[in-house]
Amino acid sequence: MKIYLDGKFVDQADAKISVFDHGLLYGDGVFEGIRLYQGNIFRLDAHLERLEYSAKALLLKMPWSRAEIAEATAETCRQNGLTDGYIRLVVTRGVGDLGLSPWLCPVPSIFIIAAKIALYPAEHYTTGLSICTVATRRMNPAALPPAVKSLNYLNNILAKIEAKQAGCLEAIMLNDQGYVAECTGDNLFIVHKGEILTPAASQGALKGITRDAIFDIAAELKIPMREVNLTRYDVWNADECFLTGTAAEVIPVVKLDGREIGTGKPGTITGRVLGAFHRRVVVEGTKI
Ligand code: PMP
Repeated sequence: MKIYLDGKFVDQADAKISVFDHGLLYGDGVFEGIRLYQGNIFRLDAHLERLEYSAKALLLKMPWSRAEIAEATAETCRQNGLTDGYIRLVVTRGVGDLGLSPWLCPVPSIFIIAAKIALYPAEHYTTGLSICTVATRRMNPAALPPAVKSLNYLNNILAKIEAKQAGCLEAIMLNDQGYVAECTGDNLFIVHKGEILTPAASQGALKGITRDAIFDIAAELKIPMREVNLTRYDVWNADECFLTGTAAEVIPVVKLDGREIGTGKPGTITGRVLGAFHRRVVVEGTKI
């Protein structure tokens, strides 16, 4: 596998980052997970915009243009002969000393990995996931905004560990107020009385690129959709529930905290959304 690392393509074994890089020492950096479908990178520009916004929030000045990063991303796919895959694009603060100071890290690093991913076993796309709520709360936006896709994912990892301990593949994280924020690596949606509802990003959700696509799909399918505060009660009593993410795509949820959602089977609106998503992924991509 060829990895793009700071302007060059190197073999996987030679793709190395300094132990003094603050991305490693402090989780000081930003990243994107992006999908390649049939030679098309899905919503690349939106991913690069979110990368820029995350970097800006951390006062991490990226010395590359959006076009340069886009070309490096496409070239990484080409170099690895990929037509379908998952791309991990990472920007680190760069090499500094052992203190926190980002201003002692003058040169950020960028690397891009293009590989494969299978987040959930295939059968769950037809049978649906059984998930739970974990005790770990989503970080308060006043501490570290969940909208920043930073290299510090410990909040999510702690929740993921709890999910696994409870025998679940994914889990709901609540915010400080007890409202549903999102899942450990996916955004959450419910269907209630014909409407699609999802928490606002301000409730502690990442502004998911797939989540954005769901708004467009809802408009296309003429299904009303809004952002609302959701409690666990709302999800327990929803007619349908599904999660979205770049790696997960659109996956139905049929049980939360031991309560069956709706009929306990993936819902019809979820199925229509999933179908529309699959139709869009190729046409909305940037050809590599
Ligand atoms: N929330 C979190 C915490 C995530 O890490 C992700 C990405 N895996 C998402 C939501 C979904 O975002 P996207 O659709 O942009 O992948």
